[in-house]
Amino acid sequence: MVIKNVRTLILMNTIYYEAHNNLYLNLTNRCSADCVFCIRNFADGVYGYDLRLSKEPSTEEIIVALEELDLSNYREIVFTGLGEPTLRLDVVLTVTRWLKNRGLRVRLDTNGHAALINPKLDVVAELKKAGMDSISVSLNAESEEKYNKLCRPVNKNAYRAVLDFVRRAKEAGISTRVTVVKIPDIDIEKCRKVSEELDSDFHIRTLSEAASKEIGNN
Ligand code: SF4
Repeated sequence: MVIKNVRTLILMNTIYYEAHNNLYLNLTNRCSADCVFCIRNFADGVYGYDLRLSKEPSTEEIIVALEELDLSNYREIVFTGLGEPTLRLDVVLTVTRWLKNRGLRVRLDTNGHAALINPKLDVVAELKKAGMDSISVSLNAESEEKYNKLCRPVNKNAYRAVLDFVRRAKEAGISTRVTVVKIPDIDIEKCRKVSEELDSDFHIRTLSEAASKEIGNN
């Protein structure tokens, strides 16, 4: 009976999807920010997958779904999706441990607010302990003022928390990069400088077609 329910849920909700030889896990549609360029404002998902969840998958449901796949086919298993994964940090940590026990590479794509979202935990230490291989943090602004304007975080100190999260992850020895989306409002070169000061890798992301059209980035 439990398994039947799990299968039904999998059919209704996209727990995972494939792209770039990776497997992406979609844990939540919630976020601690409301970026003007967020795909959630323009589409139901990416790469043809509908990522709107009618119910967030439990750890058990995710693991049951993953057990049906040949995970060795993927370069990395990535926590991402249509929301902020660290709003469900307990799920991220448990599933990461499960994946690492099977020798897989695991990445977290995050807005970097984890310490604000989980103030009682040393989030970076927990991620390191679980075996997280790499972290990709959305920076998306060269200053706090710009960040608050473009990313509209719930907590107005979020930009400092993002920088601190990157620093801490680097110090913990986790491979860490910062990303920016390519839109006219963001000064890519200044963001690159911030990234250099953090001694982090830097990656420029192209906005989805749907978002580009809406915010006039074409
Ligand atoms: S941090 Fe990511 S999921 Fe959250 S609003 Fe911004 S783009 Fe969307």
